[in-house]
This record gives sequence, C-alpha cells and structure tokens, in this order.
Amino acid sequence: MEIIIEKKENNRSEILDKIVSLAKRRGFVFQSSEIYGGLNGCWDYGPLGVELLRNIKEEWWKWMTFRENIEGLDASILMHPKVWEASGHVENFTDPMVDCKQCKARFRIDILSEIINDKKKKKVLEELRNSIIEDSKLVDKFTDAFQTEDPFSTILEDQDLSMKLLQEINCPQCGNKGTFTSARQFNLMFKTFIGPVEDSGAVVYLRPETAQGIFVNFLNVQSSSRQKLPFGIAQLGKAFRNEINTKNFLFRTREFEQMEMQFFVKPTDDKKWYDYWKDERLQWYKNLGMSENKLRYHDHPKDKLAHYAKEATDIEYEFPFGWGEIEGIHNRTDFDLSRHEEFSGKSLKYFDEESKEKFIPYIIETSAGASRSFMAFLTDAYYEEEVKGEMRSVLRFHPKLAPIKAAILPLVNKDGMPEISEKIEKDLRKKFKVFYDDKGAVGRRYRRQDEAGTPFCITVDTQTLEDQTVTVRDRDSMEQVRVQIDNISLYLTDKISL
Ligand code: ATP
Repeated sequence: MEIIIEKKENNRSEILDKIVSLAKRRGFVFQSSEIYGGLNGCWDYGPLGVELLRNIKEEWWKWMTFRENIEGLDASILMHPKVWEASGHVENFTDPMVDCKQCKARFRIDILSEIINDKKKKKVLEELRNSIIEDSKLVDKFTDAFQTEDPFSTILEDQDLSMKLLQEINCPQCGNKGTFTSARQFNLMFKTFIGPVEDSGAVVYLRPETAQGIFVNFLNVQSSSRQKLPFGIAQLGKAFRNEINTKNFLFRTREFEQMEMQFFVKPTDDKKWYDYWKDERLQWYKNLGMSENKLRYHDHPKDKLAHYAKEATDIEYEFPFGWGEIEGIHNRTDFDLSRHEEFSGKSLKYFDEESKEKFIPYIIETSAGASRSFMAFLTDAYYEEEVKGEMRSVLRFHPKLAPIKAAILPLVNKDGMPEISEKIEKDLRKKFKVFYDDKGAVGRRYRRQDEAGTPFCITVDTQTLEDQTVTVRDRDSMEQVRVQIDNISLYLTDKISL
C-alpha cells in the first residue's frame, strides 16, 4: 500500500496556475479557438471536462427535478426582443466602464476599485475632497458616500463625483493620471439579427440568463402539468454576457451554462420557501463533497438588493483568488410575471382553486452557474501529496462527478491478463465510463488516473488467474481490496451512489 507522507501547501496563485495547466494537459478545458490565438472569455470542454460538466448538470437535474413539485423546461436561446425590455435587461443590464485615453485599456468601475489599494484610495479621496470643497452639493454627496459600506465605489458610481475622482486616479495599466474617459454604461447582452435583413427591426439577443424562458412559459407549464402552487420550473442551458473582464479562468466567461429553478409560491409563503431553498442549495454542494469550510452565504444587505429582489443571498466558494459567488438565491416577488403581463398584454395570473382567488405568484429563484460550479468542484478536488518521496497530483472528485469511474489495468501484458481485463472493461462499459490502460508501470498508471480524478483502479494480476478476483484501489486512501470479478459492477454501483 502507498502511504501519504505529506500534503503540500501551495500559495494561492500557484494553485490556480497549476489547475489551469492540468485542465489543459489532461483534457478538461481548452482555450476556445486556440490555434487562432484564442477567443477571450470562451472555453472548450475536452474529453474529461465534458464528462465532469455533464455529471454536474445531471446531479443538479436529479436533485432539483426528481420531485413531484418541479417540472423541467428547455426554452430557446433566442427570444422575442420584448422579453428583454420587460425584464429590464435592455435598460439596466449594464456595467459602468471607463477607458484610458492613453493606453486604451478598459476597466469596469467596480474592478478598478478592487485594483486600487486602500492607501492609495485614501489619498485619492483626500485630493477629491480638497478639489470640491467649494461646491456644497458635491460635498454633501461626498459625505453621504461615507455612510455606505464602500465609499470609494459609491463615489465612482455617482455621475457628478465620478469624473472628478477619475481625474485623480492613475491608470493601473500605463500609470498615467487624468487619462480616463467618463464612465459609460455598457450593455452586456450580445445582439444579433433574425431573418435576412440586418436592420433594427430584426435585432434579437442571445439570452443573458435562462430565467426569462421560464417566466414566459409559467402558465404553459402550469396548465400542461396541472401543477398547483407551490411548484417550480427548472432549466439548464447556455447564457451569454459580453463581460468586460473575463479573468480567473472559468469564473467569468462570455458564454457559460446556467442551472436555474424558479419556484412559484403564494406571496404569503415567500419567506418559508426562500429559507427552504437557501438550505437545500447549499446542501447540494456539500453532498457532492465540496469542502464545507470553503462554502458560505453572503446575504445581500437591504440597500444593495437588485431592483426586483426582496431578499437575496449568494452561495460563495473560496477560490484560490478569494471568495466568489457560485449561486444566487433570490426572492423575486411578483416582479417578473407582472412585467411580462404588462408588456405582453396577456394575463399571467394564477387561479387558486381553494380560495377562488386570482393573483400573480411570488418567485423564489435558485440560479447557479454550471461552468462556475465546474471550476469550484475542480479547484476543490485538487490536491498535491507526497507519496513515498514522489509527488502525486490528485483530483478527489466525488465518484458521482468523476469523469471516469474506473480504470482497468492488466498488471502485465501476458499470461491472459489483457484478455481478462478486456472482458471486464467490456462488461463495465455498459454501465460506466471506464478506461483501459496497459501502458507503463502500474504505479505510473495509477498516477495518471489520480490526476484524472478516477476513483477506482481495477488491476488484473497473477492471483486473478487463480481465484477470479481483482484488486480495486481507492484513489483517496490508496488502499486496495480484492473483489470477485462477478461482483465488480455491483461494487462500483454501491461506491458511486454513496
Ligand atoms: P456576478 O456578479 O459574479 O457577475 P451575477 O450576480 O451577475 O454574477 P447572476 O446573474 O445571479 O450572477 O447569475 C447566476 C449565476 O450564473 C452566478 O452565480 C454564476 O454562477 C453564473 N454566472 C453569471 N455570470 C457568469 C459568467 N459571466 N461566467 C460564468 N458564470 C456566470
């Protein structure tokens, strides 16, 4: 048996670099259009990555829809342009950004605020105060900003003060001062045209979220499935946002997948269901093995809630670059259905048979990113350990998420071992994604599977020839047990379903 001697601690940015490099080397994730220099903010999932992503989505689908009160939906990506007017995206789905006139770098205002250190911020704010001292209106605004959690960002977002503040800041890229343009709103939706004529009447958007497909189908789903409140509609699929900053690997990309569920409730039951889904969603990540100490809620303070929300929380994961949202849970009230009712002119009211009342239900939303969760699961699974003087990189995925469930390894390529191994492989393939490997020393083959996150390695050895048993090595403990060939399928099923 191999013994783990020491778990190596890396510094955080080193870890992210290692994960990105492993992801490429082992075929989890490639840069999109790499041979042409790549396309910023877009990534391709390779052979192992596509399995991991599918498993995450599959587990989400099962967890969310294998219930009597949740139905599934797959709405189209292109929707009527009025949907995005009703939702507020045409008007509000914008990020304020500034350009440096000198070096042409573009920054989102909140990111600019993150880049500048506290000492510099203090100095810049002092300079700003001195420059506006004569203008009592600006001084009042300046003072009010200090009542908020982040005065610097508040001032940057204020139309009157931001230009003055920007004049005091050096561009983080070229270092020049006073070179920023004023902040402009930049809509994050991708536009395209429907039909052969490329004019403004033919503009449609690539959906920036999957939720709207659910809202507009609320009554279709309710009446066809004969659901009564409370019930939910779940959907997963691609979403597109023309993000200005796309750093940190898969965290913020321009094309990504969402896993969203909208739960329709009586307005008076909103709090109960909000709390329920908040618990339930955190539990999903924990059940799939994500480290509990790297998960937390970030409840949105009342003054920072989105225009549609009554209550909201983010489930955050501690990535190597810090805490980041992986899922949002929102009480969206009756905002969405009311808006669609108003813009479409069609009633979206629900008729409650018990009370004989007609009303617009409230919506509790759980909105997760499949790609962002992918990054969280990948990061969380990554370990480096020293085993007998050698380093091993291992991805400790929950067996349900692991891209390959088992590898079948003949100890040597003779004495009938390959034939037995091939038969085992053929049998297991009917049920599991498995991998056959007969190249190199068995220790090296184990390492290759550790790095791919394969939870079990099945080795056919000399004893197999005598008693029809194989060794099954556990990826994490590296312990080996002997299992009858006839029982392997059952053994794997039990272990994977844990
Ligand atoms: P952020 O503030 O990080 O941009 P958001 O609050 O805009 O996120 P939501 O609109 O609530 O995010 O989207 C729900 C989920 O979709 C997020 O929790 C995240 O997992 C995922 N998501 C959103 N934008 C992106 C993106 N650009 N790339 C990858 N995943 C994303």
